[in-house]
Amino acid sequence: MTTSSTINGGISFWYADQGTPPPRAPLTGDTTADVVIVGGGYTGLWTAYYLKRAAPFLRITVLEQKFCGYGASGRNGGWLYNGVAGRDRYARLHGHDAAKRLQQAMNDTVTEVVETAAKEGIDADIHRGGVLEVARTPAQLTRLKAFHEAETAFGETDRTFLSALETRERIDIADAVGASWTPHGARIHPAKLVTGLADTCERLGVTIHESTPVTEIAPKRAVTPYGTVRAPYVLRCTEGFTAALKGHRRSWLPMNSSMIVTAPVPADVWDRIGWSDRATLGDMAHAYMYAQRTADDRIALGGRGVPYRYGSRTDHDGRTPPTTVRALADLLTAFFPQLAGIEITHAWSGVLGVPRDWCATVALDRATGLGWAGGYVGSGVATANLAARTLRDLVQQDSGQGGPTDLTTLPWVDHRVRRWEPEPFRWLGVHALYAAYREADRHESRTHTPTTAPLARLADRVAGRH
Ligand SMILES: Cc1cc2nc3c(=O)[nH]c(=O)nc-3n(C[C@H](O)[C@H](O)[C@H](O)COP(=O)(O)OP(=O)(O)OC[C@H]3O[C@@H](n4cnc5c(N)ncnc54)[C@H](O)[C@@H]3O)c2cc1C
Repeated sequence: MTTSSTINGGISFWYADQGTPPPRAPLTGDTTADVVIVGGGYTGLWTAYYLKRAAPFLRITVLEQKFCGYGASGRNGGWLYNGVAGRDRYARLHGHDAAKRLQQAMNDTVTEVVETAAKEGIDADIHRGGVLEVARTPAQLTRLKAFHEAETAFGETDRTFLSALETRERIDIADAVGASWTPHGARIHPAKLVTGLADTCERLGVTIHESTPVTEIAPKRAVTPYGTVRAPYVLRCTEGFTAALKGHRRSWLPMNSSMIVTAPVPADVWDRIGWSDRATLGDMAHAYMYAQRTADDRIALGGRGVPYRYGSRTDHDGRTPPTTVRALADLLTAFFPQLAGIEITHAWSGVLGVPRDWCATVALDRATGLGWAGGYVGSGVATANLAARTLRDLVQQDSGQGGPTDLTTLPWVDHRVRRWEPEPFRWLGVHALYAAYREADRHESRTHTPTTAPLARLADRVAGRH
């Protein structure tokens, strides 16, 4: 594994081929709109898209601090899949049927994104190969079986359980002892999707201002250094960056996730590895990994490095600590010893938003016209689309253009959560949590115990995840 020539940062590998998109003009003075959206990632842009499609007369303005796709939407692992953070808690709060409706809506969302991208001519290297989640230790296998059963109970009756042999016939992963496969997933090129979406919005008549940081979000206005946009609806779509906004320091914690990508893997090595269906790949470790086979035959793999920066700070254009790059490279060769010696061409990081109860939400406050969506905890590629269609329906309902819909009545709508602890407790808590997960993973690998390490259960409880 070679990391000496790795390009580190530069937003992400996904922009390496095509470069970052040509900049759009910043805001130049005060103005008005019907809806102003803060943040040009999947959430903000899908919301603009669906609102404009539903009501072409609406004047919609998107304000983006850097460029559309600067955040997680231009840096992620490209898993377009049906996972939604907090589903099990929503089942406890609102009943199994309500949570099942949410899951069904997520299953449908994967198809919605694939079909809408095709309809709008957005080529995002989408390949619908499903999602393969693999176990590599006996304890992971126990969790995998429980996970498989839970997902089936939530309506994924088309899920398949694979033995060790069947798993390795699909992808030759060292130490694989079993896997669960679902068709509800697709591999995407994250940056192509977000830049295509921004272009589509603009084509439909949405106004997008880039290099325009919003310094304050208040009822009926978004304030920037270059002017204020006044609108009846102000929608906050800033996910992992939310903590930098006035009044939101402790709302959603910016959790880091880091990625590496290999040089294109030679055809004879692919012959040995397999992975011909290009399913997105994940595991059942507590500090889990996620990977995809890219359209140009590389492997992009991500996981948790430094989980969180003191004071909710975010990285500088994706720059990643060398120890994290090394750890991810080691993980890649643990999965695929066939790749020993391959070059790691890029490494980068990004932030995702984690609410205190690890539950994704979408909301519109009728009294103020302030809306928001996010807290997707690392499964936002598809969830952002469902959130956006829900924001559309909430705005339409509030403005008298529609009534309640199947989406506005889903259990994650208008969910409120307490704030994170102040520093230094926030930093200490998150670092202790991931130290516990890493130790639990080591313990499970070392001992080959079939049960989840007690330390991980304790960490889950303390973190408020279950
Ligand atoms: C490394 C990594 C890998 C991931 N892999 C996956 C995956 O494989 N599958 C999956 O489902 N999810 C994944 N995620 C999560 C997923 O990418 C996100 O949940 C999703 O992209 C969130 O979209 P968003 O539009 O809400 O936020 P973002 O894409 O972060 O967009 C927010 C935008 O708001 C802008 N902004 C912030 N503050 C301001 C301000 N004050 N003024 C103006 N603009 C502002 C930012 O610049 C940014 O462009 C991953 C995340 C990371 C970081």
